[in-house]
Amino acid sequence: MQHIAVIGAGTMGNGIAHVFAQNGHKVNLIDLSEESLTKGLATITKNLDRMLAKEKITEIDKTATLNNISSFTVLKDAVCNVDLVVEAASENLNVKLGIFKELDAICGEQTILATNTSSISITQIAAATNRPEKVIGMHFMNPVPIMQLVEIIRGYSTSDETTDQIMQLSSNLGKTPTEVNDYPGFVANRILMPMINEAIETLYNGVAGVSEIDTVMKLGMAHPMGPLQLADFIGLDVCLSILNVMYDGFKNPKYAPCPLLVNMVMAQKLGVKSGEGFYDYNDSRKAEKISKQFL
Ligand code: NAD
Repeated sequence: MQHIAVIGAGTMGNGIAHVFAQNGHKVNLIDLSEESLTKGLATITKNLDRMLAKEKITEIDKTATLNNISSFTVLKDAVCNVDLVVEAASENLNVKLGIFKELDAICGEQTILATNTSSISITQIAAATNRPEKVIGMHFMNPVPIMQLVEIIRGYSTSDETTDQIMQLSSNLGKTPTEVNDYPGFVANRILMPMINEAIETLYNGVAGVSEIDTVMKLGMAHPMGPLQLADFIGLDVCLSILNVMYDGFKNPKYAPCPLLVNMVMAQKLGVKSGEGFYDYNDSRKAEKISKQFL
């Protein structure tokens, strides 16, 4: 699987493109606007520079990685000749259904269609295509160049052959793929999101402040990052979407998103990507210092 297309150049898409390109794959990176692509490529360049400064890669690796990435705003131009598409567009069911329908019509018969969704049903996405056996969840973790896990989610009709190919490909990227079944939130977010939601609820109930809650979880539970800061890194809109998918999917009130989370998303306080969430990232030096701890 040499040639890969990545849809979405946001938080996850640029990281996924980075990792494939650094491992010698040709990558077509697609987003809706030139502006989003420029931003995504600037993030990849910045992350490669950081790795260079830490002597994890050479100048030659950096140049080769960037040369492996081409950017596109028209889907059809970018996906007609690829072996695999990894969709990392916004966490919205209708957006994903529309993309997969279009991909199914444009891509070659052999092309595998993967989604990086955090929680949306792989089975439902696959049903928008005529190749459900070739649709699979390939759930990378944030930040993609650093995190070891890829949660591989088999939809109801995903074939053994597709699963084996994607498990092998993920291992070749130096990651650890872990196979799970397709239920709301899969494994990672089914466990993580109730914890984040409870941390927000704890804040909402006035039990403790932002930094106190994060300190308890960092120093008391040896988490590398507190849950509120992690929510800022994931994106509060993404957290809300995932909780809503689990709430709707299980019909269980334990997944109901905290009203404070709902309000913050309505106020466009989305975390790192909007400059403010539980913490303020508008001071670029402060944001840089925080993200340096992880890259
Ligand atoms: P994001 O908002 O940072 O980026 C999404 C990008 O997709 C944007 O640049 C947007 O312009 C683009 N986009 C939207 N519709 C598109 C379309 N039709 N064609 C091409 N591009 C389109 O979101 P993100 O955090 O990168 O999340 C992407 C996916 O990855 C979501 O499904 C999310 O649930 C999942 N995910 C997110 C995280 C995380 O920590 N943020 C972790 C794992 C998985």
